[in-house]
Amino acid sequence: MASAAPIRTAQNIFRYYDKLRFAVLLPATAQSLRIRITIHTRPAAHSPGCAAMAHRASDLPPCQARPNKTKALLKWHLWLVLPLASLAVNPQDAMPIDHWLSILEQPDHSGVDGDLEALGPKAYPFLTEQCSSNQIESLSGHLGALKCAVRRQVIAYTLYIRQLDIILESGPRAYCAGHCPNPPAGCCNRDHFVILNMTDLMNAQGSPTALHMAHVIGRMQKLESAHNGRERSIRPGYCSCLAEDGCTLRLFKSPRCAHYLCEQLGQAMQQRHEGGAALFLEAMRYTVGSTISSPEDFTNPGVIAHGAALYLAHPDQTRAS
Ligand code: SF4
Ligand code: SF4
Repeated sequence: MASAAPIRTAQNIFRYYDKLRFAVLLPATAQSLRIRITIHTRPAAHSPGCAAMAHRASDLPPCQARPNKTKALLKWHLWLVLPLASLAVNPQDAMPIDHWLSILEQPDHSGVDGDLEALGPKAYPFLTEQCSSNQIESLSGHLGALKCAVRRQVIAYTLYIRQLDIILESGPRAYCAGHCPNPPAGCCNRDHFVILNMTDLMNAQGSPTALHMAHVIGRMQKLESAHNGRERSIRPGYCSCLAEDGCTLRLFKSPRCAHYLCEQLGQAMQQRHEGGAALFLEAMRYTVGSTISSPEDFTNPGVIAHGAALYLAHPDQTRAS
């Protein structure tokens, strides 16, 4: 009978641990999914058809000081739950982009409401409303100290790049992985990760916002690459963001990285789509060959519009969740 006490103690510990684990996991999982407990009223998403035009960075409404209804609530919630979430949710189980967004430091939420109001109602045909809202919220909290106009342009850029990432995942990257004419690094031995080349820099002198955007995107590249590069080996001798199994950037690729498709890949896409990829390819080539001199030059709404025409025939199969 002397051995019963330790067994009972062990059972009690296990029972309480199980309850505690549930209490931790529930809010932590909610936070990892960034379920918003705020009181925004968001207009319905626009139809995919008007997505491209509506998403031009120049369409962003002017910055205004807005009452921040969620700041206090969100702040304690993040501080309390984020550390628990990082313990309780296996990073490998979460989508890499969402996991990174969920652990970004959130030093300033003063712009979250305004950013959600300005950027949330835009149409993002490849993203669910929850996905775009989470991204706006996380990046707004992280970049809250920036000038409002720059912060919104940077967030709008990431929403665009995330959609383009989904387009490329929908087909073109499979060709890069299996048929690249220039293995092992493909086109990643160039300086594509540089946001502005010399010509861009000279032309962007008149746009402080474009220059500031480029600086912020470059800074965020380092953070994202470091996060996504954990437990991956960087391939020596090529782009510093290139791991053995591919690029370590998803949201903060430079405009040239994001839009570059080689001739062979273009031909393969045309074959695959029986000539139907021409407009998408034309938009991609136009953008990669353009000089960046203003915030609008970082993105091309036509790329998303033609990508949607190509890949959104079955919307529910392609959208990010
Ligand atoms: S775009 Fe072309 S060169 Fe670059 S990785 Fe893909 S197949 Fe290779
Ligand atoms: S940033 Fe990524 S896509 Fe661009 S060159 Fe480097 S590895 Fe390639």
